[in-house]
Amino acid sequence: MTSTPSFADITTIGVGGSIKDFIEPITRDDFISSIMAADDAERPLCVIGGGSNLLASDQPFDGVVIRDARRQVLLLSSEDDLNENTVLLKADAGVHWDDLVDHCVRNGYQGIEGLSGIPGTVGASVVQNIGAYGQEVASSVVSVEVWDRATSSCSFLSADEMHFGYRTSVLKQSMYATPCVPYSLYFPSPRYIVLSVTFKLQRSTMGTIGYEQLASALHVSMGASLKITEIRRTVLQIRGQKQMLEDPARYRNQWMEYVLSGEPSDDDIQQDRWSCGSFFTNPILTPKQAQRLPQEAPQFPAVLPNGEQGIKTSAAWLIDHAGFYKGYAVDDQAPASLSTVHTLALTNRGHATAHDIVTLAQTIQRGVYDTFGVQLVPEPVIVGLNLGWDTKENK
Ligand SMILES: Cc1cc2nc3c(=O)[nH]c(=O)nc-3n(C[C@H](O)[C@H](O)[C@H](O)COP(=O)(O)OP(=O)(O)OC[C@H]3O[C@@H](n4cnc5c(N)ncnc54)[C@H](O)[C@@H]3O)c2cc1C
Repeated sequence: MTSTPSFADITTIGVGGSIKDFIEPITRDDFISSIMAADDAERPLCVIGGGSNLLASDQPFDGVVIRDARRQVLLLSSEDDLNENTVLLKADAGVHWDDLVDHCVRNGYQGIEGLSGIPGTVGASVVQNIGAYGQEVASSVVSVEVWDRATSSCSFLSADEMHFGYRTSVLKQSMYATPCVPYSLYFPSPRYIVLSVTFKLQRSTMGTIGYEQLASALHVSMGASLKITEIRRTVLQIRGQKQMLEDPARYRNQWMEYVLSGEPSDDDIQQDRWSCGSFFTNPILTPKQAQRLPQEAPQFPAVLPNGEQGIKTSAAWLIDHAGFYKGYAVDDQAPASLSTVHTLALTNRGHATAHDIVTLAQTIQRGVYDTFGVQLVPEPVIVGLNLGWDTKENK
C-alpha cells in the first residue's frame, strides 16, 4: 500500500501526478489544524472533495492535499415541530453530495432533488454553486461555515455574502484573486475553506419542474408539481443515459473506496464517465459578441459579470457546430476524447495524461474560437497547468 495517492487516484477524470502529503482529517479541529499547518509552512494546499471538478498536472504536487473525512448531517430544527414548513440541515463539508440529496428526498425535504447524481461533496457544492435541471444549490443555502485562511479564524458567510452566480461564488473568486500560475496565495483552493453548510429545505414531498428536458422526460409541462422521489429517479435516469454519473469501477483503488457501493467488476467500467462533467461553462456574451452567432444558436437573456445585460449560449452547441462530434479525438490513437454520448465532457479513455486532456481542450477552444469568435472557459479547477492558447488576435 502506497502512503499517498496521486491525483489520478482521487479525481473522477483519473489523471494527475503524485502528491507529496495527503491528509484525511476526521474531526473539525484536525481539519482546521491541517489547513493552518500547510499555510504556516507556506506550502501549496489543495483541499479536495470528490475530485470531480479538478484537472491536475502530470507533474508531482509538492504540497499538501487535504480531504475532509467527516460525514455528518444534522437536523437543526425540531422534528416534532410539524407546523414548520421548512427544515434546517447542517452538513459537514466532507459529506458526499448525493448522499445528502438522497437523505433529503427520503425524508420529504424539498429543494435539492434536481441536483441528484452530481458527484462530489457538500463543501465543493457551494464553491461553484452547482446547478442542474432548473435548480442551483444557492437557492437552498442559509449559511456557510468557513475557515478564513487570511485571518486564521472561523466565520459564517450568509447566502448574500456568498455572492452566488452562474457556477461561481465569493469562494471561487477568492481562488483567482491573485495570479495563479503555478500557485497563487490560495490557489488551487479558496481563501475560505468550507467546514459545513446549513441548508433550508421545504417540508414537502412535492417539487416543481423547472427544466424543459426534465418536463419532457416526465411527460408533463413546465411548472408541473410532482413527487420529489419521482423527480430524483428521472434525473438519475437522464444522467445515466448521458453518462453524467460517477463510474464506481474507477474507484476500486484504495483511496476512493469510500464512494464504493458493492463490488464493481470490469464490466462496470464506463469510460464516458471518466471526466470532470461539463468541461466548459456556457458562455455569456455581450450583445455585440452575440451578433456573430448564427441565428439558430441557442440564446437566452443573462447577466454579464459587470452587471450589464448579456446573452448566454450553449457551449455544447458551439462545440458540436464547430465540427467536434461526440467521441471526437485529436487522432485515432489519442487516449482522450469527447464522451461518446455528451459533447461537453472531455474523457480519459483509460490511460490519458493531463497533457492529453489539455491538448484536446485547446484543440476544441481554438476550433470554437475560429468558427464563432467565442472563447470557451474551462469549468474545472486546473491545477499546475496553463490552459491558455493563442487566438489569431493575440498571436
Ligand atoms: C460526471 C460528472 C457530472 C457533473 N455534473 C455536474 C452538474 O450537473 N452540475 C454542476 O454544477 N457540476 C457538475 N459536475 C462538476 C462537479 O461534480 C461539481 O463541481 C462538484 O461540486 C465538485 O465537487 P468535488 O467535491 O468533487 O470538488 P473537487 O473537484 O474535489 O474540488 C473542486 C474545487 O473545490 C475546492 N474545494 C473542495 N472542497 C472544498 C472545501 N471543503 N472548501 C473549500 N473549497 C473546497 C477544491 O479546492 C477545488 O478548488 C459534474 C462532474 C462530473 C464528473
